[in-house]
Amino acid sequence: MAENNTHDYDLIVLGGGSGGLAAALRATQYGRRVAMLEPGELGGTCVNVGCVPKKAMWLASDLATRVELAHAMGFEVPARAKVSWQELVVRRQAYVENIHRIYRTRLDEHGVVRVPRRGRLVDAHTVECSDGVRISGEHIVLATGAHAQRPDIPGAELGLVSDDFFDLRHAPEEVAIVGGGYIAVELAGLLQSLGSRVSLLVRGQRLLERFDAELADQLAQNLIQQGVRIHFGYRLRELKRDGDGQRVRAYGHDGPTDSVFDALFFATGRRGNSADLGLEALGVEVGERGEVVVDAWQTTSVPNVYAVGDLAGKVGLTPVAIAAARRLMDRLFGGQPEAKMEYDTVPSVVFSHPPLGYVGLSEEQARQCHEQVSVYRSSFRPMLQVLAGSNQRSLFKLVCAGPDERVVGVHLLGEAADEILQGFAVAVKMGATKAQFDATVAIHPTSAEEVVLMR
Ligand code: FAD
Repeated sequence: MAENNTHDYDLIVLGGGSGGLAAALRATQYGRRVAMLEPGELGGTCVNVGCVPKKAMWLASDLATRVELAHAMGFEVPARAKVSWQELVVRRQAYVENIHRIYRTRLDEHGVVRVPRRGRLVDAHTVECSDGVRISGEHIVLATGAHAQRPDIPGAELGLVSDDFFDLRHAPEEVAIVGGGYIAVELAGLLQSLGSRVSLLVRGQRLLERFDAELADQLAQNLIQQGVRIHFGYRLRELKRDGDGQRVRAYGHDGPTDSVFDALFFATGRRGNSADLGLEALGVEVGERGEVVVDAWQTTSVPNVYAVGDLAGKVGLTPVAIAAARRLMDRLFGGQPEAKMEYDTVPSVVFSHPPLGYVGLSEEQARQCHEQVSVYRSSFRPMLQVLAGSNQRSLFKLVCAGPDERVVGVHLLGEAADEILQGFAVAVKMGATKAQFDATVAIHPTSAEEVVLMR
């Protein structure tokens, strides 16, 4: 049932990405009248220039690696697999198009009014669409996402960002990736295994600041083994066009100065898409990274205006945007006044080679907030790597806290870590102890069994 008829809609959603779609669809399940503004393709970052096309490329590069392993094991395949990037892109985009189709159908079936326009707020209940049409809503959800940021250095416009990776039609020969976060690491691994020579230029002294330091170190070793050149403590000063203008010359403060690349990608952080939404005039608080400040219930400083997903600046992952949006709708329209997103114990995976995933606290974080911390680890070469004569190692780690050794962190770097982690995330969320892990019978022979065999 509609909430009231004072406004055109019960809910207006700005943005048709992960968070916006989830909000719109859940609200219609509660019988609400919903309009969703999206000027671009449905699915937002995740579907178009994030998780989905990236995973397609990761799967391709994983296959390339496996062809090499197969060669080493005696299969009659080339030692180094070559892929037709064009063919790959055609298949990848067909997959993405299909998702667009599915979303269009679902929105139509649920009766969401789709407005293919950009929107901005003119007051707490009114949205002006980019064609000048104004619509009003009882509640407004901002889900406009975030965009990649370039650093403030001369020539920054010569660098590319992750969105541009998906426009590539071949592997550039010599590539630099600036950054040490998950997008930098993923792009480095993808490009290296799909034919580029990659330099990873990292400002700090380690990769993946928010991940467990030991696993991040092992990941760096694996990347180096894969052929990626990593330069820690690198501060980029300036970019200039080189020669005929096709290549870019990077000047650093330290490290390898004056290097020339066919492509240079910035993976140096993302900023919330909060500009031009009319938020200042309305008194909606915006933080330093362009994020819309929300309370634990996703509510902004204006009570009927909410923000979810990357714009809310908490944890920038698709399932988080979806869960936050659904909980919010459950609270507003579903009679569940306590429903809210729980931001701790969110599992997260870096699609590196091999993947790295974690849920819960790193060892460093656990030591900061618990008196008694015990750590278990297993470092091993998976069977396939041994059979193929590869030195790639896996490192698994459990972080436990308190006298009952509650497992507060599971950290996995190794083959299939992306798939193994989900089940253990359930265990961590349920508060499982080390003794309960120990009491679980192993599945042999697998990598996953190491998680319940650590002593
Ligand atoms: P978005 O999906 O960005 O959607 C925002 C939408 O709002 C856009 O479609 C935009 O067009 C629209 N919009 C903008 N301004 C307006 C306006 N004024 N009016 C109306 N609409 C507007 N997450 C994972 O969970 N797993 C991954 O493997 C993963 N990989 C990633 C890889 C890359 C390279 C990147 C960049 C991100 C990745 N992410 C991943 C993060 C994930 O994509 C985001 O967390 C998720 O898309 C956020 O959803 P959202 O709804 O907040 O924003």
